[in-house]
Amino acid sequence: MNFSKLPLTQAMLTNLDALDYKQMTAIQNAALPAVLKGKDVMAEAKTGSGKTAAFGIGVLHNLYVKKFRVQALILCPTRELADQVAKELRRLARFAHNIKILMLTGGESFGKQLGSLSHQAHIVVGTPGRVLKHLNKESLDLSNLNTFVLDEADRMLDMGFIEEIESILAFVPKERQTLLFSATYDEDVKKVAHKLLREPVLVKTTAEEVPNEIEELFYASNDKLETLVKILAQKEPKNVIIFTNTKIEAKELAQRLIERKIDALAIHGDLEQYERNDVLVQFANGSTPILVATDVAARGLDIKELSMVVNYDLPHTEETYTHRIGRTGRAGAKGMAVTLYSAYEMEKIEPYKAREKAIFGDADALPESKGFEMKPEFVTLVIEGGKKDKLRAGDILGALTGEAGLMGKSIGKIDIYDKQAYVAIARQEAEKAYKYLKNGKIKNKKFSIWQL
Ligand code: ADP
Ligand code: MG
Repeated sequence: MNFSKLPLTQAMLTNLDALDYKQMTAIQNAALPAVLKGKDVMAEAKTGSGKTAAFGIGVLHNLYVKKFRVQALILCPTRELADQVAKELRRLARFAHNIKILMLTGGESFGKQLGSLSHQAHIVVGTPGRVLKHLNKESLDLSNLNTFVLDEADRMLDMGFIEEIESILAFVPKERQTLLFSATYDEDVKKVAHKLLREPVLVKTTAEEVPNEIEELFYASNDKLETLVKILAQKEPKNVIIFTNTKIEAKELAQRLIERKIDALAIHGDLEQYERNDVLVQFANGSTPILVATDVAARGLDIKELSMVVNYDLPHTEETYTHRIGRTGRAGAKGMAVTLYSAYEMEKIEPYKAREKAIFGDADALPESKGFEMKPEFVTLVIEGGKKDKLRAGDILGALTGEAGLMGKSIGKIDIYDKQAYVAIARQEAEKAYKYLKNGKIKNKKFSIWQL
């Protein structure tokens, strides 16, 4: 789902990185390859899924910037939506100096738009009525158009706009790329749409966005730590977030797990920003299998493919419960949520019995966990150099697999920040990687290095 998979220019990729677009969204991943190839596309994905960039990156990539003529027209149902699209396109267009994007919407001065049009533009974003008015007055020339986009296509092709759209199309070359993007498509609209499209590629990501499948287990326990260890031993989850209600408990529980040879880190409000980041990086890259967290500390945490969430303490509300367990079972994998409650919490647990997926287990029936240990797959090395030193993941990977002689599969996630880089190394190879990086060079430069 990386943008670098696409045939984009380095300048475009650098800008996407600067915008913090690290990964393609599902619809971008599904639609961009076809959009970039110049194919007609009919795409369906829910609101907020990044549809603008899914067509915008394609439009910008296919633009011939030296030719100062309107090459793409993007129609939206309202001025506000056109404004949002234009803003997003301008951000995406920052990789090049002189791409001109013009808005033509109703409610704005027609005369002013005439002035702007006389200076030409590469891309027009507008509403149908106003665009048609310019076409009829011959102030807008679409004879060089390559790409025709209908955003919110469902609304654009229903009765309100269809006549204006058809009139606009009379001014547009038949040889063109047509892109339709929408959150939904009415059956009637689908029929109309197919008349506009030529051998379209149909992409739809809404079906993938089904709710997570989560197994919800509940155990009454008078020794929560013992029960927890037994569950970990039985289920062998790869990575787990355990929630406690206070930061003191979070710290203590992580400590007690470590004493039982179960590797864990705690995240709570007492950590400095940099410490917090160290912990999150280690959990996300597999350098610790367990994160013990309070609700506040775990906010904004986005770990893909979390195998298990444990409510070591019962949350104060069921809403918090739903929020906590929603972190497991992402990306199609089945998730597991385990909730422990004490004899004093019998009343509080009552509402959870109504949950469709709830299973109440018997803690005493869990098998013994003798000799069970949990060790991380990776170890994190920190390199005292980052983006400011022009260090890239490829440089680090190259140094480790080249002269250091590590196998590619021994190197995990690489996170690069402004002044530091974090590299996950398979535990057995960590010593070797550390020695090499300490004595050798990356990109002909020496960097300080330590292990977290
Ligand atoms: P839609 O049109 O599908 O409702 P938008 O195109 O308005 O969604 O995008 C929603 C938000 O997601 C915007 O703020 C946009 O900047 C952001 N966004 C789009 N693509 C990415 C990405 N690959 N990574 C991070 N953020 C993204
Ligand atoms: Mg949109």
